[in-house]
Amino acid sequence: MAELIVDYHALPEPRVIPSDEQLSLDRDFLSGGTDDRISRAPNAPFLRHMDGRWWLINGRDKQTRVAVYVAAESRRFTVGERCAFPLPDGESEVHVWDARVRLVVRESAEWPGPEVYTGPETSIGLNGAAVRVQLLLSRKPRHRAVLAAYYREYFTPGIDSPKPLDRMQTRLCMGLASFTALERALNEVVTEIWGEPQGHRHELPDYLIRERLLVADDQRLVPHRHCRHRS
Ligand SMILES: [Zn+2]
Repeated sequence: MAELIVDYHALPEPRVIPSDEQLSLDRDFLSGGTDDRISRAPNAPFLRHMDGRWWLINGRDKQTRVAVYVAAESRRFTVGERCAFPLPDGESEVHVWDARVRLVVRESAEWPGPEVYTGPETSIGLNGAAVRVQLLLSRKPRHRAVLAAYYREYFTPGIDSPKPLDRMQTRLCMGLASFTALERALNEVVTEIWGEPQGHRHELPDYLIRERLLVADDQRLVPHRHCRHRS
């Protein structure tokens, strides 16, 4: 069981959060109810203990800006809508709009070793794959846009047997000079799910859609500047 200490200027002193408590970083907690850009629970981001680790989970509100600065890595991670971020041991700072909340995590569980499923075909994916894909797509938003373009037919009403778009058409819709961005997005996402870039591409659209990693709304990310599509 990991330990979480939350330090925020509105708290009289840093607080140890029990592992059975879910702490909402909502309008009341962060601004005493005054900042109406910040969502209220249950739509607000929150901190939760799951499987021996503390997670920062963003809600369904697209407008909420959530990022984590991880001191040990000197890196800032954006946590997108509906994304969950596993907080590493050590110090982090959560940024929600203008608010800054300092966190210290200790004694997180180790990640389980990769659980490789063998056999002819499976779309189960490795343990924790959906969360890793969420993290990847929130770190690399262009991957999400490229996949939205490539899998457009899956979100087009009235198509019974959707297929990926032609690769060249995908390039045109995205305004890309080469196939590299598409190949990289496919390889990296497939690797997060199945542990290697080969062999599972045909299962990818079903996986992404079933896990709600790619949704109809993502079609808005595709620029369609150099093609004939008009939405
Ligand atoms: Zn297009």
